[in-house]
Amino acid sequence: MTNHSVACLFCKIADKENEAKIIAENDRAVAFLDINPAASGHTLIVPRRHSSGIGEMEEEDVLGVFRLAKEVVAKLAEKLGAEGFTIGINHGKIAGQGVDHFHLHIIPRFAGDGGGSLHTIVKSPFKADVSEIYEKIIE
Ligand code: 5GP
Ligand code: ZN
Repeated sequence: MTNHSVACLFCKIADKENEAKIIAENDRAVAFLDINPAASGHTLIVPRRHSSGIGEMEEEDVLGVFRLAKEVVAKLAEKLGAEGFTIGINHGKIAGQGVDHFHLHIIPRFAGDGGGSLHTIVKSPFKADVSEIYEKIIE
């Protein structure tokens, strides 16, 4: 797989130059445990090919990431007894992206873990009317 960024931490993990606890992989993507987990089994899935965001990714890389997500979810449910998952992407600096290589967070959820739903993450005071927004998007 080409398009390796020499300075990129997650390229190095995907290429196995840097150590990581890899729990699953396929030809397009690698899944490894987050070094600073929000919950037990917190996993990151990265495409082998370097991309900052989903916009620059090849379709096959997107598929590879989500195929692996399906596998990882099943594995974490079976091995750790995860009862649910929060699955998300901090896409762009404003959204909290700290590593400039696309990564999908798979965070196992357990009863009493103190977490909320995705709606608890963003509390924008600038919400416009849904119909207005719809018109803007489809025009
Ligand atoms: P972000 O905030 O960019 O969405 O998430 C980056 C994630 O990568 C963080 O949860 C952080 O703990 C994790 N991380 C950063 N450096 C490393 C590393 O060297 N190894 C592993 N396994 N995880 C890392
Ligand atoms: Zn990279």
